[in-house]
Amino acid sequence: MSRRNTRPHPAKPAPAAPAAADGSAPCPCGLPSNYADCCRRLHHGLAQATTAEQLMRSRFSAFVVNDAAYLLRSWHPRTRPPVIDFDARLSWQRLEILDSTEGGPFHQEGTVEFVAHYVEQGISGRLHERSRFVRHEGAWVYLDGVITPTEA
Ligand SMILES: [Zn+2]
Repeated sequence: MSRRNTRPHPAKPAPAAPAAADGSAPCPCGLPSNYADCCRRLHHGLAQATTAEQLMRSRFSAFVVNDAAYLLRSWHPRTRPPVIDFDARLSWQRLEILDSTEGGPFHQEGTVEFVAHYVEQGISGRLHERSRFVRHEGAWVYLDGVITPTEA
């Protein structure tokens, strides 16, 4: 659907700011809005993702702000884990959307391919995955994903 260019990588990624507190920080999902006007509206149930990509972004943000309830709610009941264990050593930095198929307002399923950048105990890493999203009771939910091993 949409292909975005990679942004220049900051030389020294800022420590993952818990943007949650006041909402005026840039949204962790990478869109130009601040968190309050972007993913927080979804996290708080004030808005719903209209596309699979928007759901993907909001779930990345939920990992950044440790919103387990939102992650569970936006996970298909069939594949949803019983709890979300946040790894305290791992800090999510930045999301890059590489590609997506379907997943629009009138679709029933879609995929989003992304690279999520993180820092784990001072070492940068990337998670490259193509996630599958489907509608559940009308709302987009995460079903599962295929991880591409990253070249070292
Ligand atoms: Zn956002």
